[in-house]
Amino acid sequence: MAVSLSHYAVDLEDNIAFPDIAHVPILPPHEKKNWYILTEIVSDETVFRPTFRVEDKLAGHYWVVAFYTENPAADAKECKVGHMICIKDGIPKQFLDGRYGYKIKDPWDVVILPCGLANLRELNVELRKRSDDGLFFSCVVCNSQKESLGCARCKTRYRSGECMKADWHSRHLQICKVLRTLHEWNRTPWG
Ligand SMILES: [Zn+2]
Ligand SMILES: [Zn+2]
Repeated sequence: MAVSLSHYAVDLEDNIAFPDIAHVPILPPHEKKNWYILTEIVSDETVFRPTFRVEDKLAGHYWVVAFYTENPAADAKECKVGHMICIKDGIPKQFLDGRYGYKIKDPWDVVILPCGLANLRELNVELRKRSDDGLFFSCVVCNSQKESLGCARCKTRYRSGECMKADWHSRHLQICKVLRTLHEWNRTPWG
């Protein structure tokens, strides 16, 4: 299914795109189809390799996420309590100690976001509202349709350098990676 790029329609409550514990597929994904398990880091349980206790989208359901990549310390360095680990096409496995969770073998299988789930939901609602209001291509500061600048990483749009500067340090630096991820998800075929 082709996703229109003039519209923002990510639905974080969609259990096919973002399954919770009760909806995680048991089989690997078909080619060209994806899902992400959204989890928030509850505690750092690193002893030898980076290991985190995370909470599922369904509150009260916990997993373990352990990094088995080639450079685990580097790949997990952005993992902080209160932040998110989003696991691409994740299928939970049982660890030797009996706990359930994910072994991350490829750093491209995770997106680590510097925000919690509540914050992610808020930003998503904001993007959807702007899109529904016809402001998808407008300056995020003054809503001018004559946008001429964009953030190179997340494509957030600005009318002028002045608008960009006003947004940059007050807000944008903290949420740029989150916005970039949400826009990527807006272009992702789910299944
Ligand atoms: Zn503006
Ligand atoms: Zn940006």
